[in-house]
Parts: sequence; structure tokens; C-alpha cells
Amino acid sequence: MRKRSMGIHHITAIVGHPQENVDFYTEVLGLRLIKKTVNFDDPKTYHFYFGDKEGIPGTVITFFPWANGEKGKVGGGQVGSTSYAVPIGGVEFWKKRLERFDIPYKISQRFNEEYIQFKDPHGLELEIVETAEGEKSSWEFEDIKSHVAIKGFQGARLLSFNPDKTAELLENIMGYKKVGKDRELIRFKSTGSIGNIIDLDTTPKGIGKTGVGIVHHIALRAKDDEDQLEWMKLVEDGGYHISPIRDRDYFKSIYFREHGGNLFEIATDGPGFTIDESLEQLGQKLMLPSQYESKRKEIENVLIPIK
Ligand code: ZN
Repeated sequence: MRKRSMGIHHITAIVGHPQENVDFYTEVLGLRLIKKTVNFDDPKTYHFYFGDKEGIPGTVITFFPWANGEKGKVGGGQVGSTSYAVPIGGVEFWKKRLERFDIPYKISQRFNEEYIQFKDPHGLELEIVETAEGEKSSWEFEDIKSHVAIKGFQGARLLSFNPDKTAELLENIMGYKKVGKDRELIRFKSTGSIGNIIDLDTTPKGIGKTGVGIVHHIALRAKDDEDQLEWMKLVEDGGYHISPIRDRDYFKSIYFREHGGNLFEIATDGPGFTIDESLEQLGQKLMLPSQYESKRKEIENVLIPIK
């Protein structure tokens, strides 16, 4: 039987000043900072993870903050927008909250759903949409109680410079089901209860430029190590070059670039973010992978202090 993806594990983007990043995702969107670490491939840059209380797959957005980074340009081979799911009836609360923080937004419709579209402080395109699926979040911040809090991702709108090839990957290899078409968008659905939507823009787009305000990659879920090996074989058999398995401490990852330019990762659900901190203390300390622990002083000296 064909394997079916469980959907989005996490989405990783490049942003600007780390303090502005932390303030926006915790104090405006009400997410939990669940891990403060460094980019394992570039330890002079932070890597922040925000999600629900535990940072379960499908809730996690991660950032590489480049305080003096150049602005990117959205285009083919990138996520066009990242959509957050809130409970039915929650959208009015979010409109008011964005207004309170002077964040401009637009309302847009697709697949008979209403999306609030806005940008984070560094230009990253975000959306909020009501969904019936997915558990309510148990992480509350100020007046963002669980009946309105972000549950996790609804999904992502994907831009491609070769949409036919991207569609083929999603449907024939990752096992997404085509569930609808609305103007230029095809909606693909996976099996998870959150992060299960990819809306693919079928108009080929010129190549984008990576940089501040741009998604770096989108990670899909593998249940465990064995499931990841099966995905690895499927993707390789489909003719893609896939990276060796990389241990990211909180999950294991493999990466490949699809023919429409998007960088995909397949990440294991476990072991999760409580492997090096207790659930209560998640995100409070700078956590370093063992290979950098001996250089902690040096690393802490070059990182911009944040509170
Ligand atoms: Zn990743």
C-alpha cells in the first residue's frame, strides 16, 4: 500500500533581530518558545523553536534570526504563506488582537475558508484560519485562552517554478490526496489532524531569493526511524537526491530539494523537545548540542543577548 504523509512537522524561516522574533511569536501570537539553541550547521546563529506547550509535530515554527541579514524575495521554490489554525469562532478575536498591536491585515478567501493575512516583523507571510480539526492548544498566554489559541499549522501555500513536478511529488511519492481546486490553487491533504494542507500554486513562479522574511524549508513527518528509512527509499526511488540522516537532537532529519525548487525535510516525530529540558522549563536556557558544549562561552559571546 502506498505510504501517506502525516503532514507538516515544522516550518523553518529566516528572520531579522532575534528579540523581535521572540517578542512577536510569544507575545503577539501567544506561542511557546520551546527551544533556544543554535543552528547546528552554523553555531554563531540562534535557532529558535516555537509551538504549543510540548512542541508537538505540526505546531512548530523555527527560525534562524539574522540580525543584519539581507531581505529575501518570495518566489518559486518557497513557501508563499504559512497558515495557522485556530478553533471555529476564533477569527474575530485575532482580528482584534492584530489591530491592538497595529499589525495590518487583509482578508482573503480560498476553498470557502476565510484567511486573515498578515506579516511578521520581518516580512514573513502568515495567515490565520478557523478549522474544526486538531486539538485545542493547552498553552495559554494572557487573554489567548484555548478556545481561540493557535492549535498549530493548518498548512502552507507552496510556490514552485515547476508546479507539475511539485504536484507529482506530493501526490505520487508523499501520498497527499488532491482534494480540491480553487482558481490557480490545488489543495492537497495528508492524514494528520493539523498541518495537513498544502495549497500548491499551479502558476509557475520565477525563482525567489532566500533571506530575511523567507521560509527556508518545510519539514514533513516521519513516525519514527523506520518510517523515515522507508520515506528515504521512496524519495530516492522517485529520482531525488536525499541527504544522509542528520541527528538534530530533538528529531532526525533528511533533506531533499524537489524539482520545483522547494527544500523539503522529513523529520521524525521523536524524541521531542523534552529530551534535554523538563516540560516546565522548555525554552528557558540556551541548549547546545554535545559537539558545541565545550565552546559554550565562545558561542554565547557572539550571540545577541535576548530576554
Ligand atoms: Zn528543519
